[in-house]
Amino acid sequence: MISTSKILSLARRALKSPGTYHAQWFLTRKCNYRCRGCTVWMNQDSEELSTKDVKRGLDILRDIGVLEIVFSGGNPLLRDDIGEILEYSSKYFITTIYDNGSIAANKVEELRCVDFVAISLDTLDEKKNDYLKGLSGSWRRAMETIEALKREGINVGVSPTISQINLYEIIDFTKYFTKRNIPVWYCLYTYDYQPDKGVFSVGRRSDEHEITDMKTLANVCDELMEMKKSNKYIYITRKTLEAVKQLALTGRRIWRCGALKSFLVVDHLGRVSGCHCREPLTSIFDLPKVWRSEWMKKLRMEYSQCRNCIYLCYIFYSVHKGLPGLLEIIFDQWESVKDYLGK
Ligand code: SF4
Ligand code: SF4
Repeated sequence: MISTSKILSLARRALKSPGTYHAQWFLTRKCNYRCRGCTVWMNQDSEELSTKDVKRGLDILRDIGVLEIVFSGGNPLLRDDIGEILEYSSKYFITTIYDNGSIAANKVEELRCVDFVAISLDTLDEKKNDYLKGLSGSWRRAMETIEALKREGINVGVSPTISQINLYEIIDFTKYFTKRNIPVWYCLYTYDYQPDKGVFSVGRRSDEHEITDMKTLANVCDELMEMKKSNKYIYITRKTLEAVKQLALTGRRIWRCGALKSFLVVDHLGRVSGCHCREPLTSIFDLPKVWRSEWMKKLRMEYSQCRNCIYLCYIFYSVHKGLPGLLEIIFDQWESVKDYLGK
């Protein structure tokens, strides 16, 4: 169960301005998979921050008002010190960690403290999933991991990346897991528009992933909105689905990017950026010096005009900005929030 001290600490920080409540920390550039839509594995780096420095960085994020941390990579579970990092993070932040399904089952004790473990899995079709992940056996491992974590009482969810390859399966995929009380939250295929300049290159341009059937994407959004009325395991808000639907139907963005306002990212070397496609701005250790500067204000303005990516997590945190945005998320996800608070 979430502790009272954590709830109070989160509530205090929710009032900070700017309401930068979300951070994604790419803890490592190492990965054991070879996914087709990803560049991380093509450009691995063994250098990364020490445990002590990650903890210092977490203190800084807490002090600027961040409430929620997603640890990804690479595969953050490849770090030997991941248990210590998660334990520290979970005291202050709503903490989520990603795994491709290959390691989490062997790190159950390290994962007991986290709020969510997200297993990336794209389809129920074993062969297709293994093709997408670039590794045979990945589907089976992910399914076994999900079962193992669930058995252990760990809050495990599934995170598919919606692309042209699995677009027609997303509704069935969602039904399959949510019927088993396993939450689903989504990524949307896109790629880095300036991979050489970004703080951390992730998405690779791929014609087979690129969504061409926009009408079906809009229909998927409609169906998920409908399913949400009676399904608390769909972890995406109506407002985000509406934004994606409008984008699919008209090409129009009904949101302004909230990079550096609602969210920021940190890479494996501790460099901070508005999003991973943007250039590194400062080291996390120097962030307090510049966080409220005119320079940052100008960057927030500049990024709010950017229309270069459709990473779904960035859309989500752009659609829901500041304290009103947080309240919208809580209201939209109220049934699952109740589970979380009472767990
Ligand atoms: S998508 Fe994730 S699991 Fe796949 S290669 Fe990239 S970092 Fe690794
Ligand atoms: S739209 Fe926002 S998140 Fe996407 S590349 Fe531009 S600044 Fe980054």
